[in-house]
Order: sequence, then structure tokens, then C-alpha cells
Amino acid sequence: SLPESAKGKTSGNCPPLEGAIVGQVVTRFPPEPSGYLHIGHIKACLLNDYYARAYQGKLIVRFDDTNPSKEKDEFEQAILADLARLNIKADMVTYTSDSFPQITELARQLIREGNGYMDNTSQEQMRDERMHGIESTLRNTDVATNLALFEKMLQGHPDADGYCLRGKIDMQAKNKTLRDPVFFRANATPHHRTGTKYKAYPTYDFACPIVDSNEGVTHALRTTEYNDRDAQYQWVLEALKLRKVRIHAFARMNFVHSVLSKRKLQWFVDEGIVEGWYDPRFPTVQGVLRRGVTVEALREFILSQGASRRIVDMEWDKFWTINKRVIDPIARRFFAIDAERAVRLNVHGLPFTGVQGLPTALHPKNPELGHTVKRLSSSLLIERDDANSFTVGEDVTLMRYGNVTITAINKNSDGEIVSVDAKDHPEGDFKKTKLKITWLAQVDDIVPATLVEFDHLISKPKLEENDNFKDHLTPVTRAEMHALGDHGLRNLQYGDVIQLERRGYFRVDSPYVSKDKPLVLFMIPDGKQRAMS
Ligand code: ATP
Ligand code: MG
Ligand code: MG
Repeated sequence: SLPESAKGKTSGNCPPLEGAIVGQVVTRFPPEPSGYLHIGHIKACLLNDYYARAYQGKLIVRFDDTNPSKEKDEFEQAILADLARLNIKADMVTYTSDSFPQITELARQLIREGNGYMDNTSQEQMRDERMHGIESTLRNTDVATNLALFEKMLQGHPDADGYCLRGKIDMQAKNKTLRDPVFFRANATPHHRTGTKYKAYPTYDFACPIVDSNEGVTHALRTTEYNDRDAQYQWVLEALKLRKVRIHAFARMNFVHSVLSKRKLQWFVDEGIVEGWYDPRFPTVQGVLRRGVTVEALREFILSQGASRRIVDMEWDKFWTINKRVIDPIARRFFAIDAERAVRLNVHGLPFTGVQGLPTALHPKNPELGHTVKRLSSSLLIERDDANSFTVGEDVTLMRYGNVTITAINKNSDGEIVSVDAKDHPEGDFKKTKLKITWLAQVDDIVPATLVEFDHLISKPKLEENDNFKDHLTPVTRAEMHALGDHGLRNLQYGDVIQLERRGYFRVDSPYVSKDKPLVLFMIPDGKQRAMS
């Protein structure tokens, strides 16, 4: 069972690793540097980290850089930065490309021992033969010829054009992944780390078990869609007489209204539909953090899903609900009024003239967050929707101040409210009012703010196998409104999370600079409201 140290609140969702010994477990997270990390990757990464810590073992972060056509230094740097953002500290960072010499030597061994052969069957024909269990005509080529061709492929020699190395396993195997998989192929594209040093590269299927074994990995966590390939993985280790590695399967994580594939996400970037990989609508680490999820909530959410083998389509609401629990106690409270629909409220009978400071807690239940000084004056801005529901003679509560009594609702000839008059009513009981409203003194240091809301990029909740995601794009996914807010908003920094009372939670995407460069706030879903309501 799990060691004592691992029996945290989430361990129930992460079953023990088979054969794990405290102090000796080594796990690895093997991202391919072919895109930015998305929340699916975070699951893999946090689980590996979780088990490494739970068993006081080690976590390897390994760049699985075996395909130069897809990989870039930009992605490698972004992945490292994202891991740092998530507070994941690898005990070792390695690169499959550093193992190319050993992997190449093991490929030679495979050929020498009659377990591999060079083949030039076209991809299409190979697929077809694999389907029907037909052996390649080159399957029984002698070792010397195979070795010579392999060396030529490594050199990028034209004699080896069209050849790849295949494992000689079993073309009749019921498990089709055992039907002589490709283990090495030529690729002239320069590699982002090794340049043009290599002209042929091992496939993931060949490199992964070798490097896992050589790096001392004890438990390789793989998503369940790899189950069929497990036999192939173990075959490689056996054929090469390498140390065995245990495979532990866990379920892929999918999200409704989302695509979690680097290739598809890249399409959105290339089409200019999103700002980049850090777009707040993206399910990338950077995207969801920018949208306002906290690292703490992210970890909690993913570990609560645990290592179960059942594939689930996660609802975003659940994700945001956990986040709300984390941010609510620490989000400072401010007021902001819809700039285009504001109505003036004239308060008569205040015990002062001009503008008065009103010391106000930044969070009604968390005194540690300190105070702000709200501005109060006889000329306030309030929401039109609130004004529309006033009746003359009633008391309404100005939140954080007290009651006023409505004395007049002034309308123009179209019946629209132009202003409201009220008188201060300090003895009024705020427990008895129907309306508790936000308000803003109409003073010079009001802060203009742009409030931005986002919707899902994909309109269909669950994309099926045959669906093309491009047929299910939400037409409009960004909406903004202009607001005027408390002067305290001017001190917010990039990344601060606040609550605009009666509007919701927001994250600062750009701080206030001047009247022309307003504060930009991204709305953080709270798991209740529909986006862009
Ligand atoms: P993509 O389809 O986005 O390219 P990938 O699986 O090819 O993803 P890798 O960089 O090879 O991306 O993945 C690194 C690790 O993350 C692997 O262990 C992989 O199984 C895991 N992983 C990728 N997507 C998910 C997901 N949606 N849920 C859980 N784990 C995932
Ligand atoms: Mg991959
Ligand atoms: Mg994938």
C-alpha cells in the first residue's frame, strides 16, 4: 500500500504502484517538445510527481525529442517554464537525444541477433500488410546486408533511401502493434539540439523502453490508449536484455468543448483565432493560468481525478468550482459599474460636503487582506438595472456604507431614467432592504476598466471520432464591456485576482496605466454562470 507520507487527502484517488519500494521509485514525465503543455499533460506530469514524492523517489523530466520535424527549442523552453509555474521540480532533466548513441548501438544489436531488419515497403503498403498479416519480402534478409543498410541509413546515404528499421516480432500476432513495428527511420530535418549530426532517428516505440530502462525508471506511467503497445514495449526490453520496467496505466483526461492535441491547438494559433499558446481560451498551462486558475486549484483538481483507468470527459464547471474555493478567500473586493449604462444617484443630507474617505475592508471575512479607502460623495454612479427597480420612498442599501431613501426617479420623455435622488438614512436597517447595490463616487480618480469574458472555442461538448473540430467552432468567443471602478483598482498588478462585487471574479491581464490605457480584467468562470451570458 501507499507509504504513510502519501496518505494525503488525494491518495484515495491514486492507487498504490505495484511493486513500489519506498525510496526506490523512479517515475518520468516524457513530453515531446512539439507544443506547449496542456492540461492533459499536467495530469501526466502531476501524477508522476505525486508518485515520486509519495514514495520518496525521483522524478525525471525527459524531453522525448526523437522527431526533428515536429520539435523546437521554443517548445522545450516553454515546457520548462510551465513546469516551474506548476512548482514541479524534476530530480533530473534528460533528453532522449542524449541517448541516441546507445539507442543506435542497441539497434545494431537487434539486427545482429536477428530481431530486426531493414525494409523499404511504402508506408501505405506496410499498413495494408500489417492489417492482413502479410510479411515483407525483405523480412528474411541476412544480417550483414541489414547491418550495411542500417549504417547507410544512419549516414543519410542514398542507397538507403526509403528504408527503415523494423523489429522482427510477429506478423500474425493478434495484437497488431506486434506486427513488425518501425523502430528507426531516416529524417534529414535538422534537430533542434543535435543539428545535422544524425540523419536517422529512433521511433518513440523503440527509444522509450530503452531510455526508461537505462535511466532507472521503475514505473512508467502511460495512458490507457497505450495498453496495446505495452507488449511491444516489453518485447524491446526482452529482445535487448535490458532491465524491466513496470507499466502503470492511467486514463487520459479530456475536457468538454476542448481539443487537447498539440497539432489541433497549433492550428488555432496558425489561423490567428487565438493570440497564441497563452491565449486565455486555450487549455494550455499558460492559457488556464492566464484565465485565472491558481496552481493550487489546478493541482487539486487533477489529483482529485487521480490515476483511475476510466477515461472521462471533464466538465469545466467542476474545474472552476474548485478554483473558486481557492480564490474566494483571497480575492480583494472592489466595485465597478457598467460605464455605458451608469445612472447618477444624488444623495442629499450627507453629513459632509465634497468627497469623504470611507475606510473599507478589502474582504469582509478576511481582515488579513487589509483596508482600502472608498470615496463617498453626494454624486454617485449606480447600475441602470438597479435604478430600474427602485420605487420612491423605499430604502436601498449602498453596500459598505448604509441606507438611503429614494426620493425621486427622474426620467426623460422616452421614460428612461436620467438620475435618481435619495436622502441619507443613517438609522435605516440594512437587513430590511430588498436591494443592496454597488456604487461609485463620481470623482476624478475613477478607474476605467475593460472587462473581458470568453467562451469555449469548440461549440460541441464532446467531439466524436469522426468529427472535424473545424466544423464545430464557436463563432464569437470574446466579449468585452467598459466599466468604471474604485480608485483602489489602480494599484493592481498583472496576475492579481479580485472580485468585482455582484459581477464575479477577475484576473488582471494588464494593469491600469492611464485613462486611455484602462485596466484589463479577464473574468474567471466560477462554475455557475454560463460564459458570455
Ligand atoms: P498531443 O496529442 O497533445 O501531442 P502527446 O500525447 O503526443 O500529446 P506528449 O508530449 O508525447 O504529447 O505527452 C507527454 C505525456 O503526457 C505522455 O505521457 C502522454 O501520455 C501524456 N498525455 C498527453 N495527453 C494527455 C491527456 N489528455 N491526458 C493525460 N495524459 C496525457
Ligand atoms: Mg507523444
Ligand atoms: Mg496525443
